[in-house]
Amino acid sequence: MEMIGCCPCPSCGEGQVGYRLCSNRETVVLLCDNCALVWMHPNKVDADQARDPLHPDFARQHPQVELRSSRWATRPEIEAWGWGIYLMKPGDLFKGPEDNS
Ligand SMILES: [Zn+2]
Repeated sequence: MEMIGCCPCPSCGEGQVGYRLCSNRETVVLLCDNCALVWMHPNKVDADQARDPLHPDFARQHPQVELRSSRWATRPEIEAWGWGIYLMKPGDLFKGPEDNS
């Protein structure tokens, strides 16, 4: 599964932050492919908002985020989670909705 990237990682500076589909096959979070930190929203991918999914507090606060059998999310899965707008590039605004090329 190809990773759909969001941005370079603001924490480690080496990885790419991509959209990750959790084990429940519904919840999407942002995961760095290098340092494995997590962000809960594509609007807030900065060093201050980075979460460690291995921290005990994280599992308590976000029980729906289970990464053990997660995989990179596809575009339809990201859209189903309501984050399709974050995948748009400026050029997409000039295409008709029926044009999926
Ligand atoms: Zn990172």
